[in-house]
Amino acid sequence: MPVYEYCCADCGTRFSKLRPMSKADAPIACVHCQSENTGRVLSLFAAVSKSSSGESRSVTGSGCSSCAATSCHSCRAG
Ligand SMILES: [Zn+2]
Repeated sequence: MPVYEYCCADCGTRFSKLRPMSKADAPIACVHCQSENTGRVLSLFAAVSKSSSGESRSVTGSGCSSCAATSCHSCRAG
């Protein structure tokens, strides 16, 4: 099974889980606060945002500086 990375919108915790591909986008409880207000983080985006130039671009999908997800509170704050 592949490992997927998730970010909790409530507490900002990032965690990864081994899950079957069919469940990749299914709701999952945060390991820290048990909230199901979590979103999957695409590690590809995280890798892109850490590329050589180091500049962050909102167009790549890495909208949130704290967790790299696009669906947490801090992403929507602006
Ligand atoms: Zn949480």
